[in-house]
Amino acid sequence: MDGIAFIDTHAHLDDARFNKDRAQVLERARQSGLEAIINICLWHPEEGFERGLGLLNPPFVFGSLGLHPHDASLIEGVDIKAEIRRHSHRPGIVAIGETGLDYHYMNSPRKLQRKAFIEHIRVARELALPLIIHSRDAEEDTLKILEDEGAEETGGCVHCFSGSPEMAQRLVEMGFYISFTGILTFPGAEGQRRVATSLPDERILIETDAPYLSPLPHRGKRCEPAFVVEVARKLADLKGLALTDVARITTLNAKTLFGMLQTEEPEARIAYPIRNSLYLNITNRCNNVCTFCAKLTSYTVKGHYLKLKKEPTFFDVIQAVGDEPTRYDEIVFCGFGEPLIRLELVKKAGMYFKRMGCKIRIDTDGLANLVHRRNVLPELMFVDVLSVSLNAPDRGTYQKLIRTPFGDRAYPAILWFLREAKRYIPRVVATVVSLPGLDVEACRRVAVEECGVGFRVREFNRVG
Ligand code: SF4
Ligand SMILES: [Zn+2]
Repeated sequence: MDGIAFIDTHAHLDDARFNKDRAQVLERARQSGLEAIINICLWHPEEGFERGLGLLNPPFVFGSLGLHPHDASLIEGVDIKAEIRRHSHRPGIVAIGETGLDYHYMNSPRKLQRKAFIEHIRVARELALPLIIHSRDAEEDTLKILEDEGAEETGGCVHCFSGSPEMAQRLVEMGFYISFTGILTFPGAEGQRRVATSLPDERILIETDAPYLSPLPHRGKRCEPAFVVEVARKLADLKGLALTDVARITTLNAKTLFGMLQTEEPEARIAYPIRNSLYLNITNRCNNVCTFCAKLTSYTVKGHYLKLKKEPTFFDVIQAVGDEPTRYDEIVFCGFGEPLIRLELVKKAGMYFKRMGCKIRIDTDGLANLVHRRNVLPELMFVDVLSVSLNAPDRGTYQKLIRTPFGDRAYPAILWFLREAKRYIPRVVATVVSLPGLDVEACRRVAVEECGVGFRVREFNRVG
């Protein structure tokens, strides 16, 4: 049901190695599911940007303008800001770069690399375009220049990331994205893989850096944009996601950063797959106002937009799920809101999918009995798994974190709900979000010893 589309955010299509078969390379990219490619148009003393610009063909091939740090010594003979300004209006230009610092190869003196980098940041801020940054063995200076020059304001990505986890962390705090190449698939790239695994999904981009850095199993051959799929496959592996999830997430990230999004608000998803589960978004209403709610920052979960303009009916839900609900491992009533506020819909749709042979899970705040003023559990016997947000080891902590209007009645009601649920539902699990300072062990004891149910910890800042 989900079309798969990738964006290669960094390729050098004007490289001479593509001269013989560039059209076929682009065709193979389309065939492999690429929706767009960003061609890095590098300034050249004779041709300026023309070689790269000549290949732009939006909405498939977009472009970025920059002087490569390897060539930074050329900065003495050109007003690079004026050059960039002059071409920035060309259709398809979405970024400035690649620019930055390369102290590994040192093809240009450090001083001139820094000068060129600063000029790029200044013109990017002036034009309000994001930066594409190259940084190799130059962490400290890269971060310092980005900070000193206020690069946060314009944002961007660090391409082919090879830095430390601390650098990645700092960049994410500054609002930057981190982009990974085929290096992620190389046996020696444990460090990059660790960084990729720990980063929030919403900050990751994928690229090929073609014609360089072919991923496995193409390593050693000329790299081309179609191979970005192998980078995505590796990322899916590392993050425990499906390839379709990584495609959707990284494509949305690229579109957000490079301004390739449509301007109208997108339609909210009612049914949305993550891994091999199908989630149902039936309401955005909640009983609580949790301090850590992801809704406060964004209505997008794993690349799915969830802000409903109106709550779906039973028929909307059936239609959104489509003909083959059994191809998913489970149907999950979840979404950005409390599903059991819509108890009647959950029952009707849940039993409908159960009859078709699906496994049913409900993710809930455990307050349904207070909302409906009766014990609703006997009505939920069609449910296979009930996942209840416990979130605290005691009343006081619960109220501080969850800010529920039910006040002191809420926490004991959840404990009762957990214990009672075992009589009707085969698998009951209490969950907590691993917030800094929360006594997770104490929560585990409440779940396992006091209530006799399963226990699961969800990572803070990670939804879906
Ligand atoms: S119940 Fe979930 S969606 Fe509602 S406020 Fe809490 S965290 Fe946010
Ligand atoms: Zn490059």
